[in-house]
Amino acid sequence: MHFSSPRTDRAAGVLLGQACGDALGVPYEFASRRFDPVTGPQMVGGGLGSYAPGEWSDDTQMAACIARVSATGQDLTTPAALDAVAKGFLRWLADGPADIGSQTSAVLHSTLRHAGDGRPHAVMTDAARRLHERSGRTAGNGALMRTAVVGLTRLADRDATARAARAVAALTHHDPLAGDSCVLWSEAVRRAVVDGVLDLRGGLDLLPAEHQGFWTETIDRAEQDDPSTFTGNGYTVTALQAAWASIHHTLPTSDPGPDHLRAALHTAIGIGHDTDTVAAIAGGLLGARYGVSALPLAWTRAVHGWPGLRARDLVHLALRTARQGPEAPQSWPSAVRMDTGSERPLAAPLASDPDVLLGTFADLSRTRELGVDAVVSLCRLGTEEFAPPGVAPADHAEVWLVDSDDPVGNQHLVWLLDEAARDVAQLRAEGRRVLLHCVAAHHRTPAVALRYLRTRGLDVDTAVAEITTALGREVDGGLLWKEAQR
Ligand SMILES: [Mg+2]
Repeated sequence: MHFSSPRTDRAAGVLLGQACGDALGVPYEFASRRFDPVTGPQMVGGGLGSYAPGEWSDDTQMAACIARVSATGQDLTTPAALDAVAKGFLRWLADGPADIGSQTSAVLHSTLRHAGDGRPHAVMTDAARRLHERSGRTAGNGALMRTAVVGLTRLADRDATARAARAVAALTHHDPLAGDSCVLWSEAVRRAVVDGVLDLRGGLDLLPAEHQGFWTETIDRAEQDDPSTFTGNGYTVTALQAAWASIHHTLPTSDPGPDHLRAALHTAIGIGHDTDTVAAIAGGLLGARYGVSALPLAWTRAVHGWPGLRARDLVHLALRTARQGPEAPQSWPSAVRMDTGSERPLAAPLASDPDVLLGTFADLSRTRELGVDAVVSLCRLGTEEFAPPGVAPADHAEVWLVDSDDPVGNQHLVWLLDEAARDVAQLRAEGRRVLLHCVAAHHRTPAVALRYLRTRGLDVDTAVAEITTALGREVDGGLLWKEAQR
């Protein structure tokens, strides 16, 4: 599998898209709170688990259990990998999750009681089967809510993807409908990453022949009926319809992109009931389609959750899963430092807003002496370069902006330049002193600074002059600078 720049962006967006949907939906679970229809849902926390603002819930917590195994490159259909996922679920249970689905809870507790009867995944799968035989009702949405990452595990092999989706679903959900829904969604995620398309029907032929008619009708209904129809979304079939209807009915007629992602999640949460799960399901596929570069920075700065992860960790887990294992230790995202030490410090204040400093990599270690308490990084960072001195992780944005003159280098270039500028403005509105930097302040930093000054009402010529003065040189030009001047 060749990882072009857009494909890498899309793979990186799967888990983080899911996490953003989850954390955005948490406050509104089961009508615990309503949101303003104009501003849309906000990551204010609360919900069933009294979550902190930006904290994700069981959906992404369980997805992280899968991702920590898939990131090693293991085949999720093997006993060893399924054992590792099952053990992850049990560790998560032992940590006392604030919120856990009833079927998942019953299966995990039964697994604990029968520990020692065999390999963990076999005991768990058997517990799920027995629950199904007893109750006849195990098609809850708890397998679908965590399946997006499975779509990354074998990007070049749709059959292997389907087998993995079904095996991971069966750990806790024996009902074939739960497995079917996971096959369809994981395959849609795979297609979205590989081809940049939204196609839920693409996986129908991966289902047993006798189920294909049912699922064709199910998808048809999701596309015909209003999203608000799908309120009983604790059921895996309705949850899939709710998520797909939210995506399908908000699809713009031209230029689908970040605005579609946001509109679809607003719609998903507006349906009500299991809001975080429907938004987590939708968010995984939307992140796969549009990439990490389409996610609002206020969201990616805020999201966090068990087991002590933040946005960058989910991006790294997703990329390692897509590449089937960790990269060389000295290359991104494993590298401890990306700064080679060759750049000189700059930290040049803007004349019309001296609390925005334009900088290079060399300024990142000087945040405390510069009095900076927020950072917008426009380049890739090493593991030790995140959260520089005196800057909280939630006040440090990492922007997926590629320094390239190739028009396909960035999927949403103009939107992203503006989004980075909006984030600088947001941090300034909160009273922060912001370091805006890339590697050498040649292309990315001046381009975003120009968009930021435009938001403050400066015309292009005045803004360009201000940036030239701050940098002490003319900007080199290039695609980003040209687009920023539009
Ligand atoms: Mg949840």
